[in-house]
Amino acid sequence: MAFESLSDKLQNVFKKLRGKGVLTEKDLKEALREVKMALLEADVNFKVVKDFIARIQERAVGQEVLSSLTPGQQVIKIVHEEMIALMGSEEDSRIRYSDKPPTVIMLVGLQGAGKTTMAAKLAGMLKKQGKKPMLVACDVYRPAAVKQLQIVGEQVGVPVFEMGTDVSPVDIAKAGIKQAAKMECGLVILDTAGRLHIDEELMQELTDIREQTSPSEILLVVDAMTGQDAVNVSKSFDELLNITGVVLTKLDGDTRGGAALSIRAVTGKPIKFAGVGEKLADVEAFHPDRMASRVLGMGDVLSMIEKAQTAIDEDKAKEMSQRMLSNDFNLEDFLEQMQQVKKMGPLNQLMGMIPGMGSKLKDVEVDEKGLARTEAIIRSMTVEERRHPNILNASRKRRIVKGSGSSIQELNLLLKQFDQMKVMMKQITGSMKGKRKGGLMG
Ligand code: GDP
Repeated sequence: MAFESLSDKLQNVFKKLRGKGVLTEKDLKEALREVKMALLEADVNFKVVKDFIARIQERAVGQEVLSSLTPGQQVIKIVHEEMIALMGSEEDSRIRYSDKPPTVIMLVGLQGAGKTTMAAKLAGMLKKQGKKPMLVACDVYRPAAVKQLQIVGEQVGVPVFEMGTDVSPVDIAKAGIKQAAKMECGLVILDTAGRLHIDEELMQELTDIREQTSPSEILLVVDAMTGQDAVNVSKSFDELLNITGVVLTKLDGDTRGGAALSIRAVTGKPIKFAGVGEKLADVEAFHPDRMASRVLGMGDVLSMIEKAQTAIDEDKAKEMSQRMLSNDFNLEDFLEQMQQVKKMGPLNQLMGMIPGMGSKLKDVEVDEKGLARTEAIIRSMTVEERRHPNILNASRKRRIVKGSGSSIQELNLLLKQFDQMKVMMKQITGSMKGKRKGGLMG
């Protein structure tokens, strides 16, 4: 999971800080030394770390934090604020749209960074936000690149413009933009060629495309897992091409976080999006404040809520919660509910967003397989059985177990848990009714 090891170490430092009623300057020094080590081990740029620690030190001593009532909390607050500042502002991380559509977003980057995948992820995400994107295949060197873009474009339901591999990328880009205007697509995403290393020819080609298409955004796609390499690549691309922002991919596999924490400070350019998995829905707008909270183990409840909002049908959720509180909540509802939760993505990814959960995740293996088995068992029941589990006699149970490849024990356990859940819900409804009454009388 992203930032896991850094987050763990910082939380340990914070735990010690919180536990102290009085904080001496020596304590602070020691804590900051540990924060510094944690950041360096996370592969954050050395100079960035040095400046970061110096700023915190200055603020912590200057504001008489140490003599406050909650010195530990105050220091943590300062670290949090400085970490947000390190990654930029919310304002910087938004896409700039052109006054004269179509807005052109040019994606650049080295081979394998995840550019083509990101082109489709962005197109899909922005389409959901009501934009009309078109993808343009400007990588004419890798024959498979055009095909790859067509496939992912189709998966997110976005048109892909291509002219094969015999036309110059500049001409393809220009023709693509024209076509987009004709089709009233307000947004064009150019997928350009990548190389293994930065070379002059590639840079010339990218410069030509930039000059001929005046993109609103030139976003460099870099692989977060390459740490300081990603930072160096960002610096070079920026010097040669003057990028407007960075997109970090493979953040899901980056346990250290060095790139995310250094890029903005080193290049002055904001990170705008992050790729967090191989699936085309695994993309997030980059919010410096939320990211800082995640790194510091304070959770990212906002992103979780957003995820839930896009995945879960609100009317259904309302109806479901009403049913849960009523007496006729049955296994069919239970199954429906599992589907809704599943739409939100892998459970451990979600749990990492809950405050304080990040570091505990290692111990609680999320039992996705167990959930799949539960689902299989319920699916093997008839609708009648799901609605009235009490009709399940021995022969029905044998049939279900056979159909779902489970055991009688598993089935019985599921039924027992379901009963317990119903009892619990009854208690909740009971106490809610009680409260309401109390409220009226009070
Ligand atoms: P390109 O050469 O820059 O166009 O890179 P691709 O889009 O072909 O991606 C290279 C590889 O990285 C593919 O196997 C992708 O599935 C994978 N990839 C891309 N983005 C992510 C991500 O956010 N997380 C993970 N885990 N893999 C990713």
